[in-house]
Amino acid sequence: MPPMPARYEPVIGLEVHAQLLTRTKLFCGCSTGFGAAPNSHVCPTCLGLPGALPVLNGRAVEMAIFAALALGCTVHESSVFARKNYFYPDLPKGYQISQYELPLATDGHLEIDVDEGVKRVGIIRVHMEEDAGKNVHGVGGDSLVDLNRAGVPLIEIVGAPELSSAAEAAAYMRTLRDVLSFLGVNDGNLEEGSFRCDANVSLRPVGQAQLGTRTELKNLNSFRFLSRAIEVEIARQTAILDAGGKVDQETRSYDPDKNVTRTLRSKEDAHDYRYFPDPDLPPLRVAPHSVEQARSRLGELPRARRGRYETELGLSAQAAATLTGHPALTRYFEDVLSRHADAVRVANWVTTEVLRGAAIHGLEAELPVSAAQLSELLDLLAAGKISGKQAKDVYAAVEGTSKMPAEVVAELGLTVVSSEADLAPICERVLAEHPAQVEQVRGGKKGVLGFFVGQVMKATGGKADPRVVSQLLERLINQTG
Ligand code: ADP
Ligand code: MG
Ligand code: ZN
Repeated sequence: MPPMPARYEPVIGLEVHAQLLTRTKLFCGCSTGFGAAPNSHVCPTCLGLPGALPVLNGRAVEMAIFAALALGCTVHESSVFARKNYFYPDLPKGYQISQYELPLATDGHLEIDVDEGVKRVGIIRVHMEEDAGKNVHGVGGDSLVDLNRAGVPLIEIVGAPELSSAAEAAAYMRTLRDVLSFLGVNDGNLEEGSFRCDANVSLRPVGQAQLGTRTELKNLNSFRFLSRAIEVEIARQTAILDAGGKVDQETRSYDPDKNVTRTLRSKEDAHDYRYFPDPDLPPLRVAPHSVEQARSRLGELPRARRGRYETELGLSAQAAATLTGHPALTRYFEDVLSRHADAVRVANWVTTEVLRGAAIHGLEAELPVSAAQLSELLDLLAAGKISGKQAKDVYAAVEGTSKMPAEVVAELGLTVVSSEADLAPICERVLAEHPAQVEQVRGGKKGVLGFFVGQVMKATGGKADPRVVSQLLERLINQTG
């Protein structure tokens, strides 16, 4: 029996919250540093004490504009901060300052790679808002509140309901994370909550235009949880619809241990929040020339760069993805490439040796050798002054030090034997020792030549120039034939 055609089409829209990497909070001078002692980064403004007034952080606005432009949005000349009123212990003012009717930016898109090719997903809006604090449960039987995070600047990126699977949602999240980290506005850390999302999921009968009733999933703090939560939610809604039931619009929480979603609360509507413009903050004015200035600084975004690495530099899809997957790694690769032009060779070394010893912290990376060291090493290798095996040794010797490869080569007395006179006797001996393999080469099995090159390299302790050896072997085999 052929598989049953799918009856329902999943529809997913993500609301992503990304912390802007400012030093200070959105409306006060408190530090945004992560991991400090609870309630050490607070002041009357972010504690919501009566009479304290908010002052908007200009750097946060710049970063938000930068992100909005990278997402192809229109940045509005005037936008308005509004109070979103609700009661919760981690919200000392009793309202969150957000943007509602007039957000900073609207109507953009994000291109993602999907099975069928490239998909353009709409971005409904990008607005600025402040984060809430954090409730810490189970401290000696009590629940405590840490307000260090209260007032930290966020952008909310509201995606259109245009994703069709858990895999597409994950691809959207990854692509968005790469864009924001390349702009330097967000560090993409799901675990620490500086990049997080809520997923809205609904089903509709295949062919139907109207959207079905959605649920909103919370607590998706890893790519794996995001995918799994969406998958189990699709399965749950499918079962309800198949049984003739109706999906309730509600907010649900994902439990990764049991791999289920459960009701958190019935979905609140916008009117529940009693939004109104914040009387303490004037409308945010963004001059068109500052938007144009920001646009001119955008540069090449990760997806475009990845494509160019493949087409122009001839890198594999895998290498191009790795090298554009972290901004510090991209900068390093480009730095080495500006000194040593063989892109494939540079990519090979960066994605293996260098990456193996790299320590990544947020947007920064500590790399085990400098661009100057690596490029000098690759120059020596390309010029045939050291062999591939010696290059690995030299690399190991300069790793984590300030030594230059040329010094190490001199120090260790490394040389490459490339004179035919020196190599011929060794090649002849190796050929004589393996007559069967010689016949295989003569029979057209060119691959076996690699075996002989390997033998000669072994016999010379890795010092022979493999290109010379290979040519010499081929000639000797043909001569004696
Ligand atoms: P709200 O203001 O209630 O949060 P929005 O209309 O702003 O609702 O949409 C919020 C998010 O929900 C968006 O990311 C959007 O793509 C998504 N969404 C809205 N309707 C649906 C639906 N029927 N199915 C899936 N996602 C949806
Ligand atoms: Mg919303
Ligand atoms: Zn403060």
